[in-house]
Amino acid sequence: MSQSETLVTHTTCPYCGVGCGVEVSVQDDKRFIVKGDKSHPANLGRLCSKGAALGETLDLEGRLLHPEIHGEQVSWDHALNKISASFNDIIDKHGPDAIAFYVSGQLLTEDYYVANKLMKGFIGSANIDTNSRLCMSSSVAGHKRAFGSDTVPCSYTDLEIADLVVLTGSNTAWCHPVLFQRLRQAKKNRPQMRIVVIDPRATETCDIADLHLAINAGADITLFNGLLIHLQQAGKADQDFIANHTNDVDACLTSAQTDAASLEQVAKDCGLSPQDTNTFYQWFAETEKTITVYSQGVNQWSCGTDKVNAIINCHLLTGRIGKAGQGPFSFTGQPNAMGGREVGGLANQLAAHMDFSTEHIETVKTFWDAPNIAEQPGLKAVDMFNAIASGQIKAIWIMATNPLVSMPEADTVRQSLEQCELVIVSDCVKRTDTTELADILLPALAWGEKDGTVTNSERRISRQRKFLTEPGEAKADWWIVNEVAKRMGFAEAFDFDSADSIWREHASLSAADNEQQRDFDLSGLQNISKSDYDRLQPVQWPCPGNRNINNDSVQMFENRRFFHADQKARFIPVKSCDDFPKTSIEYPLVMNTGRVRDQWHSMTRTGKVARLSNHFSEPFIEIHPEDAARFLVQENDLVTINSQHGTMHARALVSDKQKKGNVFIPMHWNRMFANGGNVDNLVNAITDPVSGQPQFKHTPVSIQPAAMAWQGFILSNQQPAKLPFSHWVKQKKQQAYRFSIADDKLINDWNSLAKALFPQDGDWIEYHDQSNGYYRAALINNNKLVCCIYIASDNSLPDDQWIDSIFNEETLSPNTRINLLSGQPPVSMAPAGKTICACFNVGLNTIKEAIVNQKLTTTDQIGELLKAGTNCGSCLPELKEILKTAGK
Ligand code: SF4
Repeated sequence: MSQSETLVTHTTCPYCGVGCGVEVSVQDDKRFIVKGDKSHPANLGRLCSKGAALGETLDLEGRLLHPEIHGEQVSWDHALNKISASFNDIIDKHGPDAIAFYVSGQLLTEDYYVANKLMKGFIGSANIDTNSRLCMSSSVAGHKRAFGSDTVPCSYTDLEIADLVVLTGSNTAWCHPVLFQRLRQAKKNRPQMRIVVIDPRATETCDIADLHLAINAGADITLFNGLLIHLQQAGKADQDFIANHTNDVDACLTSAQTDAASLEQVAKDCGLSPQDTNTFYQWFAETEKTITVYSQGVNQWSCGTDKVNAIINCHLLTGRIGKAGQGPFSFTGQPNAMGGREVGGLANQLAAHMDFSTEHIETVKTFWDAPNIAEQPGLKAVDMFNAIASGQIKAIWIMATNPLVSMPEADTVRQSLEQCELVIVSDCVKRTDTTELADILLPALAWGEKDGTVTNSERRISRQRKFLTEPGEAKADWWIVNEVAKRMGFAEAFDFDSADSIWREHASLSAADNEQQRDFDLSGLQNISKSDYDRLQPVQWPCPGNRNINNDSVQMFENRRFFHADQKARFIPVKSCDDFPKTSIEYPLVMNTGRVRDQWHSMTRTGKVARLSNHFSEPFIEIHPEDAARFLVQENDLVTINSQHGTMHARALVSDKQKKGNVFIPMHWNRMFANGGNVDNLVNAITDPVSGQPQFKHTPVSIQPAAMAWQGFILSNQQPAKLPFSHWVKQKKQQAYRFSIADDKLINDWNSLAKALFPQDGDWIEYHDQSNGYYRAALINNNKLVCCIYIASDNSLPDDQWIDSIFNEETLSPNTRINLLSGQPPVSMAPAGKTICACFNVGLNTIKEAIVNQKLTTTDQIGELLKAGTNCGSCLPELKEILKTAGK
């Protein structure tokens, strides 16, 4: 191949449930160009800031490349033999339920399939659960109660043709950014389209909202029960549909009435004005083409399943389901949460959308020729880690996930794993909070190296294709499980030799005894050849044998047939819930957790990218100005947050977009990036009784300013072996790492401490004003900057961006040395400020300056001048806010 030629691979983004198609060009010089795939129906060429930065996450820094047992590198044979022998031994002594798998929406469907088959079919336990339990299991449970199947009825194209889109519990702008872009464009094309956002916070999603309902945390059931009654009273019930295709409407209406005595009462209980509540109800009533989107803000509650059904009930009453531009639409969090649901990765599912009914057990047992099939559901995530703590589970295999960061009461989960007899972790990253507790570490392939399929939020199956060679001894997750299964004595059932061979079996199982009795049907793809699998275009299921397989959208429930035995949907009577810990004098604020725009989960990939790490560089707590004043907290203060379960530190972000009495803290930071930044240590592990999903959206907390004697930061190419401070946060900058540091104890001898932290060769230059508490120092070797430290008794620290750029200078000039010690940038290096546009790396100060100097008044003008907001558009809401305040 010539220097100018490139290879293009069509694959799928590994981050969120939108499932965007990605084109990766691998150039001869080994640079990777990542673009949105214009032919992919999910994104039509668009990408968000995270997807656009995928090419910068592909280096091998931090990768796990060899199997290890207790920190010692071993051969694959040794590791696999050890695991299989240990499993067989534990099963002999304690039975199959003493083993558990905790898997992940990051796994490909083929990986998931093999893991589920081994656990449920051959080990003989259903103790396999997925981290999707934490993000959408309430949607699964709600779908199954209403439809008799876990069916997402809508497609992305429905969003664009709807006349009313209700977004509830979904910060779509940041969590499903490409769908937000599609909605923004649809509204631009059809300004009459209305958008309602229901969220206690005024998130960036409100940028396109015609109405924002800042609902009291948890009051959704009351709001939707009130809507149900309103729709009934307004004569909007579809009597024909209800009579012929549903059950239990009367019980549901009676139940809803107890929450909805009057509009005024509903509005009061929800913390809304009667006018806004009525506007929402009227818009919903008068708009046939209505979609209700819901996400983690609905699912992550101890009554999440009831919330889902409260929404579905309104669509069933009006018959607005199974038609173009209408329906309830759950947005899933992870790239392959849906694939996990399809194979049976949840402990309460068997396989291929089959349950633990006698009939389904027989079907799967026969299909797998499974000697020892599990006959009842296994333990869901929270119960699974509790069972490890109680000694009931002796061995756990964690695949592609980081439960010590993501589980509620994460410190309790840590204690469980610390005492577990055998902890096996398969991961592509060597050091995570979870891998640190592994007895056996298994190196897995990462994105770009593995082959298989994922399913997105609209049931669309897409290929992930490899474009990189496998590094070190890393292997596909399915291969690892397959090898363990063979060694446990199940070689005949685990003779898979490729992802496509697994796919064919998975698709065939979906067809077994199906005859359109189950929604999930891939029979039209069960015999595809390897080359057809390699060429497989994005396709929505179901794919029955008689379907012409193409990438058209498929309307579910168009024929008004559901998957309960009588083929009717069910109204589920639900009532407002408040059976969870409330705020108190000791814990007076409600803490909500969620995502930020530019990070993904525990930051193992996005945390490597400087331009993604400069939007929010530290954990933060968003707090209403009146609450900030009440608790003596000022903007950017370091704050200590306590719940009954743990404590953490975060920077104050004072904002009237936050509802009074509520705070928001992002979920991403963990021990690899901060020593006190994991919010899930604080989250209460109470769960939904139906779905088992934990309540991440409501934990009572207290806050107070952190009593720090000093604060500062270090910039360095290398992480010191230890950071002996009560607070530190690591951030990737363009040239160096930044460590934000603080401590409640004064340090008298900074010079000695600096030398101990950075024992490298070189000369230290220093400025120390002990009386005012300032210390600045830089280590210079061969006229190049090695590291620098800035300490202040208050929060008056220099901007770090210009200092970071100095790491790039070949020779430090005398003036630069003076700049370094004074903390003052040269005039030519004015700080750009916090990154607003991650695609083009444009900072807040640059934007403000352009607005003032060039008299800009629109985001289009900012885009023309600075390019900000012209790629993924995720920063447009922030640009609008900056336009409002710049120059004032
Ligand atoms: Fe990836 Fe962004 Fe698309 Fe989600 S919206 S799949 S993170 S590019």
